[in-house]
Amino acid sequence: MSNLLLLAPPASGKGTQAEKLEKKYGIKQISTGNLLRKASKNNDDLGRKITDTLKSGKLVDDEVVISLLREELLKLGNQPFLLDGFPRTINQAEELELLLKEIGTSLDYVFLLEVPKEVLEKRIINRRICSDCGKVYNIADSNNLNSCTTCGGLLITRSDDTVDAYQVRYMAYLNSTYPLIEYYDKKKLLYRIDAARSVEEVFESISTILNRGDEK
Ligand code: AMP
Repeated sequence: MSNLLLLAPPASGKGTQAEKLEKKYGIKQISTGNLLRKASKNNDDLGRKITDTLKSGKLVDDEVVISLLREELLKLGNQPFLLDGFPRTINQAEELELLLKEIGTSLDYVFLLEVPKEVLEKRIINRRICSDCGKVYNIADSNNLNSCTTCGGLLITRSDDTVDAYQVRYMAYLNSTYPLIEYYDKKKLLYRIDAARSVEEVFESISTILNRGDEK
Protein backbone atom coordinates (compact mmCIF):
# COMPACT_ATOMS: atom_id res chain seq x y z
CA MET A 1 0.00 0.00 0.00
CA SER A 2 1.01 3.61 -0.55
CA ASN A 3 2.29 6.49 1.54
CA LEU A 4 0.07 9.56 1.27
CA LEU A 5 0.09 13.24 2.04
CA LEU A 6 -3.01 15.39 2.46
CA LEU A 7 -2.38 19.02 1.57
CA ALA A 8 -5.17 21.32 2.63
CA PRO A 9 -6.12 24.54 4.43
CA PRO A 10 -7.12 24.27 8.11
CA ALA A 11 -10.74 23.06 8.60
CA SER A 12 -10.88 21.57 5.09
CA GLY A 13 -11.75 18.14 6.52
CA LYS A 14 -8.30 16.62 6.13
CA GLY A 15 -8.39 15.03 9.59
CA THR A 16 -11.74 13.36 8.82
CA GLN A 17 -10.54 12.04 5.45
CA ALA A 18 -7.31 10.83 7.07
CA GLU A 19 -9.31 8.88 9.64
CA LYS A 20 -11.48 7.23 6.93
CA LEU A 21 -8.40 6.33 4.87
CA GLU A 22 -6.82 4.74 7.93
CA LYS A 23 -9.96 2.65 8.55
CA LYS A 24 -10.40 1.47 4.95
CA TYR A 25 -6.79 0.96 3.88
CA GLY A 26 -4.99 0.45 7.21
CA ILE A 27 -2.71 3.37 6.52
CA LYS A 28 -1.47 4.92 9.75
CA GLN A 29 -2.42 8.57 10.12
CA ILE A 30 0.28 10.90 11.42
CA SER A 31 -1.06 14.36 12.26
CA THR A 32 1.64 16.81 13.31
CA GLY A 33 -1.11 19.00 14.84
CA ASN A 34 -2.12 16.06 17.10
CA LEU A 35 1.52 15.24 17.93
CA LEU A 36 2.07 18.88 18.93
CA ARG A 37 -1.14 19.12 20.98
CA LYS A 38 -0.03 15.98 22.86
CA ALA A 39 3.49 17.36 23.40
CA SER A 40 2.03 20.68 24.60
CA LYS A 41 0.50 18.86 27.60
CA ASN A 42 3.99 18.05 28.94
CA ASN A 43 4.76 20.18 31.95
CA ASP A 44 8.18 21.32 30.77
CA ASP A 45 9.70 24.29 28.91
CA LEU A 46 9.16 22.72 25.47
CA GLY A 47 5.53 21.84 26.31
CA ARG A 48 4.82 25.43 27.40
CA LYS A 49 6.57 26.88 24.31
CA ILE A 50 4.48 24.65 22.02
CA THR A 51 1.27 25.66 23.88
CA ASP A 52 2.02 29.36 23.28
CA THR A 53 2.74 28.84 19.56
CA LEU A 54 -0.41 26.75 19.04
CA LYS A 55 -2.51 29.47 20.70
CA SER A 56 -1.05 32.11 18.37
CA GLY A 57 -1.86 30.04 15.27
CA LYS A 58 1.73 30.38 14.01
CA LEU A 59 3.92 27.49 12.89
CA VAL A 60 5.97 25.58 15.48
CA ASP A 61 9.76 25.47 14.83
CA ASP A 62 10.79 22.96 12.14
CA GLU A 63 13.30 21.30 14.46
CA VAL A 64 10.61 20.47 17.03
CA VAL A 65 8.03 19.19 14.50
CA ILE A 66 10.56 17.11 12.54
CA SER A 67 11.90 15.47 15.67
CA LEU A 68 8.35 14.43 16.71
CA LEU A 69 7.65 13.20 13.16
CA ARG A 70 10.88 11.18 12.95
CA GLU A 71 10.05 9.44 16.24
CA GLU A 72 6.56 8.55 14.93
CA LEU A 73 7.78 7.28 11.53
CA LEU A 74 10.42 5.10 13.18
CA LYS A 75 7.74 3.53 15.39
CA LEU A 76 5.81 2.48 12.23
CA GLY A 77 8.55 0.34 10.68
CA ASN A 78 7.26 -0.69 7.24
CA GLN A 79 3.60 0.23 7.82
CA PRO A 80 2.27 2.71 5.19
CA PHE A 81 1.44 6.18 6.51
CA LEU A 82 -0.64 9.20 5.77
CA LEU A 83 0.74 12.62 6.67
CA ASP A 84 -1.76 15.20 7.87
CA GLY A 85 -0.47 18.73 8.44
CA PHE A 86 3.14 18.11 7.38
CA PRO A 87 4.91 19.50 5.38
CA ARG A 88 3.57 23.05 5.48
CA THR A 89 6.56 24.73 3.83
CA ILE A 90 9.07 23.96 1.06
CA ASN A 91 11.79 23.62 3.69
CA GLN A 92 9.73 20.98 5.52
CA ALA A 93 9.06 19.20 2.19
CA GLU A 94 12.79 19.00 1.51
CA GLU A 95 13.47 17.81 5.06
CA LEU A 96 10.74 15.21 4.64
CA GLU A 97 12.32 13.87 1.47
CA LEU A 98 15.64 13.44 3.28
CA LEU A 99 13.98 11.83 6.29
CA LEU A 100 12.01 9.34 4.16
CA LYS A 101 15.10 8.48 2.12
CA GLU A 102 16.99 7.81 5.34
CA ILE A 103 14.19 5.48 6.48
CA GLY A 104 14.11 3.80 3.02
CA THR A 105 10.68 4.93 1.83
CA SER A 106 8.96 7.76 -0.14
CA LEU A 107 5.64 9.51 -0.82
CA ASP A 108 3.33 8.00 -3.46
CA TYR A 109 0.34 10.41 -3.60
CA VAL A 110 -0.26 14.01 -2.58
CA PHE A 111 -3.96 14.90 -2.37
CA LEU A 112 -4.82 18.61 -2.51
CA LEU A 113 -8.19 19.25 -0.83
CA GLU A 114 -9.67 22.42 -2.37
CA VAL A 115 -12.36 24.36 -0.43
CA PRO A 116 -13.47 28.04 -0.81
CA LYS A 117 -12.62 30.29 2.18
CA GLU A 118 -16.31 31.11 2.95
CA VAL A 119 -17.04 27.40 3.42
CA LEU A 120 -13.98 26.99 5.67
CA GLU A 121 -15.03 29.88 7.93
CA LYS A 122 -18.45 28.30 8.49
CA ARG A 123 -16.83 24.97 9.35
CA ILE A 124 -14.42 26.50 11.90
CA ILE A 125 -17.27 27.94 13.99
CA ASN A 126 -18.88 24.49 14.27
CA ARG A 127 -15.73 22.45 14.87
CA ARG A 128 -15.09 20.61 18.16
CA ILE A 129 -12.40 18.05 18.99
CA CYS A 130 -12.14 15.29 21.57
CA SER A 131 -9.83 16.47 24.38
CA ASP A 132 -8.49 12.91 24.76
CA CYS A 133 -8.11 11.28 21.30
CA GLY A 134 -8.30 14.35 19.01
CA LYS A 135 -11.25 13.07 16.92
CA VAL A 136 -12.91 15.94 15.02
CA TYR A 137 -16.66 16.73 15.11
CA ASN A 138 -18.86 19.24 13.32
CA ILE A 139 -21.59 20.19 15.79
CA ALA A 140 -23.80 21.37 12.93
CA ASP A 141 -24.09 17.65 12.02
CA SER A 142 -24.45 16.28 15.55
CA ASN A 143 -26.75 18.26 17.84
CA ASN A 144 -26.17 18.23 21.62
CA LEU A 145 -23.07 16.06 21.32
CA ASN A 146 -20.62 16.86 24.12
CA SER A 147 -18.59 13.66 24.46
CA CYS A 148 -16.55 11.61 21.98
CA THR A 149 -18.43 8.68 20.37
CA THR A 150 -15.12 6.75 20.15
CA CYS A 151 -13.47 7.21 23.58
CA GLY A 152 -16.01 9.17 25.68
CA GLY A 153 -13.62 12.15 26.08
CA LEU A 154 -14.97 15.67 26.50
CA LEU A 155 -15.52 17.64 23.24
CA ILE A 156 -13.86 21.04 23.33
CA THR A 157 -13.27 24.01 21.02
CA ARG A 158 -9.62 24.13 20.03
CA SER A 159 -7.87 27.23 21.37
CA ASP A 160 -6.93 28.19 17.78
CA ASP A 161 -10.47 27.74 16.38
CA THR A 162 -11.34 31.42 16.86
CA VAL A 163 -12.08 33.67 13.89
CA ASP A 164 -8.92 35.75 14.60
CA ALA A 165 -6.55 32.78 14.97
CA TYR A 166 -8.15 31.23 11.88
CA GLN A 167 -7.19 34.26 9.77
CA VAL A 168 -3.56 33.84 10.88
CA ARG A 169 -3.58 30.12 10.08
CA TYR A 170 -5.27 30.67 6.71
CA MET A 171 -2.71 33.33 5.74
CA ALA A 172 0.10 31.01 6.89
CA TYR A 173 -1.42 28.37 4.58
CA LEU A 174 -1.56 30.71 1.60
CA ASN A 175 1.91 32.17 2.12
CA SER A 176 3.88 29.09 3.06
CA THR A 177 1.94 26.04 1.95
CA TYR A 178 0.68 27.18 -1.43
CA PRO A 179 4.13 26.79 -3.05
CA LEU A 180 3.98 23.10 -2.11
CA ILE A 181 1.29 22.63 -4.75
CA GLU A 182 3.81 23.53 -7.44
CA TYR A 183 6.54 21.52 -5.71
CA TYR A 184 4.51 18.29 -5.73
CA ASP A 185 2.94 18.98 -9.12
CA LYS A 186 6.43 19.10 -10.64
CA LYS A 187 7.17 15.76 -8.99
CA LYS A 188 3.97 14.40 -10.61
CA LEU A 189 2.54 13.35 -7.26
CA LEU A 190 -0.32 15.89 -7.00
CA TYR A 191 -4.06 15.08 -7.27
CA ARG A 192 -6.63 17.90 -6.90
CA ILE A 193 -9.84 17.03 -5.03
CA ASP A 194 -12.96 19.24 -4.76
CA ALA A 195 -13.42 19.07 -0.97
CA ALA A 196 -16.38 21.46 -0.67
CA ARG A 197 -18.56 18.37 -1.25
CA SER A 198 -19.77 15.91 1.42
CA VAL A 199 -17.31 13.79 3.41
CA GLU A 200 -18.46 10.67 1.51
CA GLU A 201 -18.12 12.25 -1.95
CA VAL A 202 -14.62 13.50 -1.17
CA PHE A 203 -13.65 10.08 0.19
CA GLU A 204 -14.96 8.36 -2.93
CA SER A 205 -12.84 10.57 -5.17
CA ILE A 206 -9.72 9.76 -3.18
CA SER A 207 -10.53 6.03 -3.01
CA THR A 208 -11.09 5.89 -6.78
CA ILE A 209 -7.61 7.26 -7.39
CA LEU A 210 -6.04 4.89 -4.86
CA ASN A 211 -7.94 1.88 -6.22
CA ARG A 212 -6.72 2.64 -9.73
CA GLY A 213 -3.28 2.05 -8.27
CA ASP A 214 -1.66 4.31 -10.83
CA GLU A 215 1.13 5.62 -8.66
CA LYS A 216 2.93 8.33 -10.57
P1 AMP B 1 -3.44 21.36 12.54
O1 AMP B 1 -4.03 20.44 13.55
O2 AMP B 1 -2.74 20.62 11.42
O3 AMP B 1 -4.39 22.41 12.05
O4 AMP B 1 -2.26 22.15 13.29
C1 AMP B 1 -2.52 22.96 14.42
C2 AMP B 1 -1.31 23.83 14.74
O5 AMP B 1 -0.17 22.98 15.02
C3 AMP B 1 -0.84 24.74 13.62
O6 AMP B 1 -1.56 25.96 13.57
C4 AMP B 1 0.63 24.95 13.99
O7 AMP B 1 0.74 25.87 15.06
C5 AMP B 1 1.03 23.57 14.51
N1 AMP B 1 1.54 22.69 13.43
C6 AMP B 1 0.96 21.56 12.93
N2 AMP B 1 1.70 21.01 11.95
C7 AMP B 1 2.78 21.81 11.82
C8 AMP B 1 3.91 21.81 10.95
N3 AMP B 1 4.05 20.89 9.98
N4 AMP B 1 4.83 22.80 11.11
C9 AMP B 1 4.70 23.75 12.06
N5 AMP B 1 3.66 23.83 12.90
C10 AMP B 1 2.69 22.88 12.78
